[in-house]
Amino acid sequence: MSKQVIRLLQLYPKDMNIYGDNGNMLVLQRRLEWYGYEVICLAYNPGDTFPHDVDIIVGGGGQDSGQDRIVDDLQVIAPTLRALADSGTPMLVVCGLYQLFGHFFKTKSGETLQGIGILDVETYGESERLIGNIIVDSKQFGDLIGYENHSGQTFLGEHAVPLGVVRLGAGNNTADIYEGARYKNVIGTYLHGSVLPKNPELADFFIRKAVVKKYSEMSDDLIDDHFADLARKAALKRPR
Ligand code: GLN
Repeated sequence: MSKQVIRLLQLYPKDMNIYGDNGNMLVLQRRLEWYGYEVICLAYNPGDTFPHDVDIIVGGGGQDSGQDRIVDDLQVIAPTLRALADSGTPMLVVCGLYQLFGHFFKTKSGETLQGIGILDVETYGESERLIGNIIVDSKQFGDLIGYENHSGQTFLGEHAVPLGVVRLGAGNNTADIYEGARYKNVIGTYLHGSVLPKNPELADFFIRKAVVKKYSEMSDDLIDDHFADLARKAALKRPR
């Protein structure tokens, strides 16, 4: 019997892919394979044709200059991304793309990079960079462990739901306690690291949502997360 297929799309890997963000693709691919699915990995860069039948979307962070290079193209694919988000397609967007999935990023140099407003957040560049290990208390996924490095400070609008509450580090900003934002199955976060290898429960959230959306039910195979658990234990002890 041929295997069921899940199609992963990485947004802007040429310009938006720092601090190991590509690892998120690798984790989704490998876990899906362990669960018994066939995986097709796709990439979308400025000017490309947006692929059909995408089941999971991931996007990473980038320098302000990288965001500048993709921001116009992002407006072109915004209606497609919005329709996919509205229909429940799971998406993980980290840092630079988290900011641009919000309404705008006003950089420190005064430029406004227009976002696509899937997440009800706004971001303002500040002179202080928020850098270091971060631990976030998320009700649904337990402790989320990652690494942050951003000048933008993000503020939740009234329709935004945070991903969690910061226990170590800064998260969205230095003014409130929140990290990340959610809309349906879209999660925006400042956690690099990459985030998914150390947070398998979060990885399985995207996988489960995608598989159930496409095939109605998901394999009940169990994955041995022994090494991920060891990595989590070590990471939880690290200083900021
Ligand atoms: N350039 C953005 C900032 O500094 C995003 C950084 C990132 O993606 N790590 O806030």
